[in-house]
Amino acid sequence: MSSVLSLARPDILQLHPYQHAAWDPSLERMHANEMPWRAQGDNTSAGLNRYPEPQPHALVERMARLYNVPASQCLVGRGSDEAIDLLVRAFCRAGTDRVVICPPTFGFYKVAARIQGAEVVEVPLLDAGFALDAQPVITAGRQSKIVFLCSPNNPTGNLLDERAILAICSALASHALVCVDEAYIEFSVRASLTSRLGELPNLVVLRTLSKAYALAGARCGTLIAGEEIVDLLRRIIPPYAIPSSTVEEVLQLTEAPQRAISAERIRTVLAERSRMRSRLEASRAVVRVLPSDANFLLVQCRDAARFLEAGKSVGLLVRDFSSAPRLAGCLRISVGTPEQNERLLDAVERT
Ligand code: PMP
Repeated sequence: MSSVLSLARPDILQLHPYQHAAWDPSLERMHANEMPWRAQGDNTSAGLNRYPEPQPHALVERMARLYNVPASQCLVGRGSDEAIDLLVRAFCRAGTDRVVICPPTFGFYKVAARIQGAEVVEVPLLDAGFALDAQPVITAGRQSKIVFLCSPNNPTGNLLDERAILAICSALASHALVCVDEAYIEFSVRASLTSRLGELPNLVVLRTLSKAYALAGARCGTLIAGEEIVDLLRRIIPPYAIPSSTVEEVLQLTEAPQRAISAERIRTVLAERSRMRSRLEASRAVVRVLPSDANFLLVQCRDAARFLEAGKSVGLLVRDFSSAPRLAGCLRISVGTPEQNERLLDAVERT
């Protein structure tokens, strides 16, 4: 067994996975206790009366091509949320194992770990620009099973230093997985760390269609890692995790013409992000706007409640982080359409 697999829970390594109904599209199905007819009005191509293919081949291939990695290194799940959940369940023994997070960061790492009964060790991002503090992460990682790093980070918006991430990965090679969540990477200039998977067997990368590809409702995230990790997680993902309607929609909505439109929209988001940043920085209502490599801005306000109200008064909701540790006065604004952005800026400037 490789050293990375030896980090997994021993009972998961020995688990006999659920035996789902065999998948053989060349035969007619009388083996899965499904109805033989479609529901009235079911116009899907697969037929919703049928269970979907476990790890749908066409979808996995599409994600592999999209992210430029081999299909054998991809696990597709219901959003990256499911990948996070599967990782902590496969690697952390309840009451014994730990994960490391670097707050302020995406909240689900902690929740998923707590649900599994894993201890959460916090190594805060540094005050100056919310940078990664590599050495304490390495020290904590040596006693942990998974280190979650989010780059660009939610909610602060900054990229984490790539050399620091790689140093953490190398130092923890035989101690812990390093899971780099790249949910927002399409809005940055940074290339994905997937190109380093060959040299770093403990590296796990998360990608999602929820942000840049405008498919949050489809729930489709991809975990990219060495084959052994992917094979292990395939044993514990629920048997028919991805609905066939999602498969059909995602295949249709990630074709080349849609990808070209996504790329164009990303350019619009980046232009709007920079326009909003300048306008907000000039506003009396704002103390500072953090530089962002994502599709949102973290804004420190003079009076967060008043800013929130200004947004609501023109029908717009932004996310309140003002009571989160180290984010006093901060709100997170997702870049909207130019019209929405203008409406918000105008309301804020009038307060
Ligand atoms: N990671 C980060 C950093 C996120 O911000 C989010 C969603 N807000 C997710 C993962 C979850 O994304 P998905 O829709 O793919 O589950």
